Amino acid sequence: MDHRLETCQKVVEKGIEMLAINLTVGTWGNISCRIPEKDYVAITPSGMSYDTLAPEDIVVMDLRGNTISGTNKPSIELPLHLAIYNARDDVQAIVHTHSPYATALAVARKEVPGAVEDMVQIVGGKVRVSEYALPGTVQLGTNTVKALEGRNAVLLANHGMIGVGRNLDEAFRVCQVVEKSAQIVIFAKLMGGVVELSEEDIAGMRNFYLNGYGQR
Ligand code: 13P
Ligand code: ZN
Repeated sequence: MDHRLETCQKVVEKGIEMLAINLTVGTWGNISCRIPEKDYVAITPSGMSYDTLAPEDIVVMDLRGNTISGTNKPSIELPLHLAIYNARDDVQAIVHTHSPYATALAVARKEVPGAVEDMVQIVGGKVRVSEYALPGTVQLGTNTVKALEGRNAVLLANHGMIGVGRNLDEAFRVCQVVEKSAQIVIFAKLMGGVVELSEEDIAGMRNFYLNGYGQR
């Protein structure tokens, strides 16, 4: 299978998974991934059901927003995805979810503090809230890139969240881990408050996650 088809197939699979584990409902949220060896991005089509998508429904775009292949309209958040890819060479994939606990914090305009160990390892620290902008706008992309600096996740005010990663599996895991942390933080606030990790411990755990964790 060529790289383009393989990437589109993976995007389809992650869409089904995103819906199955309640990181979104209906057709909201969107997913994209760079295509290896090309300056192209495969992105979900706008407003189509994840459970019936075929690889041919995924739209392939270049980094300036020109359509390379596919007949569907790309996600309305294409400008946001492209803003991130153009600003961050380290990002290979982007998952945008409307998951409930992360969105609760996004509505309250409260960041996810650096308090849960798995989250700071995969995200690199606390998750900031980007300044509000309407969905689908270039301004949302600008605000998001700013709040995402040095991190792998960001909350979109009154909207949802974005997870990014070195591959699609990692971007997806970022969304799962941030959603879990958002839930934990909300419960901890109800029990009297959150104890944040020190910057030093966060940096140490991030380094371990990148260079020592798992099978090498
Ligand atoms: P699309 O269906 O166009 O991707 O839009 C969903 C969404 O979440 C917009 O923010
Ligand atoms: Zn959205």
